[in-house]
Amino acid sequence: MEKIIYLDNAATTKTAPEVVEAMLPYFTEDYGNPSSVYGFAAKNKSAVDEQREVIAEALGADAREIYFTAGGSEADNWALKAAAEAYESKGRHIITTKIEHHAILHTAEYLESRGFDVTYLDVDENGVIRLDDLRAAIRPDTILISVMYANNEIGTLEPVMEIGKLAHENDILFHTDAVQAFGQIPISVDACHIDLLSASGHKLNGPKGIGFLYIRKGVKIRSFVHGGAQERKRRAGTENVPGIVGLGTAVKRAVRTMEERTEKERELRDYLIGRVLAEIPYCRLNGHRTERLPNNANFSFRFIEGESLLIRLDMKGICGSSGSACTSGSLDPSHVLLAIGLPHETAHGSLRLTLGEDTTREDLDYVIDSLKEIVAGLREMSPLYEDYIKKTNKDS
Ligand SMILES: *Cc1c(COP(=O)(O)O)cnc(C)c1O
Repeated sequence: MEKIIYLDNAATTKTAPEVVEAMLPYFTEDYGNPSSVYGFAAKNKSAVDEQREVIAEALGADAREIYFTAGGSEADNWALKAAAEAYESKGRHIITTKIEHHAILHTAEYLESRGFDVTYLDVDENGVIRLDDLRAAIRPDTILISVMYANNEIGTLEPVMEIGKLAHENDILFHTDAVQAFGQIPISVDACHIDLLSASGHKLNGPKGIGFLYIRKGVKIRSFVHGGAQERKRRAGTENVPGIVGLGTAVKRAVRTMEERTEKERELRDYLIGRVLAEIPYCRLNGHRTERLPNNANFSFRFIEGESLLIRLDMKGICGSSGSACTSGSLDPSHVLLAIGLPHETAHGSLRLTLGEDTTREDLDYVIDSLKEIVAGLREMSPLYEDYIKKTNKDS
């Protein structure tokens, strides 16, 4: 196979060469343990501190509010479990949504099994929560609201500022899973009254297995990993220094390139959406038309299976996704697509294409032409499509 066209940047991204380069010396030259007292290790400690500053600055936060984790899933687990435990004397009610990543949903289910009460908010047909639903769900014993900044499947942005305001007015902690949004959308933890925020390196051209949890000063939160005194005694374990340097470098780079990169991605995304909707019949766009991530397009094609579509795209060197990476492999339709009201058959025929910083218009032309051919070919073999065409011909 010649060229790969990678349109699955919501699943993971290429680590930028600049990021890898910044990491390398910390494996073989400056490999000391940041907790050691001798001068040889001092560079490691300062490297970690420096990255904490870089990340804090990107959020308008203080460096002491940034806690490194082994990725987005760990940050999500930590935010929910440790906040629940620290505030359970105040109440045992948590509010989240039906469209969260499984790192949130499965943690919420775990908390339910431990006696917490969880409300899962519905979303509208675009995947946006209704603020009235949120208002109505708030109870005197509500301790935490967790709503994602942007959805990983359909790209929809949630009204984070309004949610934060409501949480703040009611003295409830607000956590947001910003794994998809961070690096693509400017975020201010103060303007949005965010108390806890999760992010991950590998979604913004950084390395895998490293992320962070922002914890606002004054928020009571239990340690997640017990052991040494790292991360202000809240998350023990020798720091992943190369990973942290990679994450910080990726964040610095993402902030620097954000405006230009996302403007280009938005334009290409709209080109893709426009052509697919115009040129492929019986097709819809999932997620909000405008309030969505700059790089996300998610379509449903009636009368076909998303999995067959992915396999044929793969044969043409095109990488996409039919749901979130964690659910592919199972035949259940995506919980997000069901939550926006799609029937099972339509949800099954869906395709997520997420652009990256290297995506070009030529790439998209090739993808669109391939899609047209593949969708038509799959429909030709579909008894559902045949029945539908027969029926509509008879009716007209
Ligand atoms: C990828 C992702 C996660 C998980 O992050 P990892 O670093 O892969 O553990 C959590 N939430 C969302 C929205 C994601 O897209």
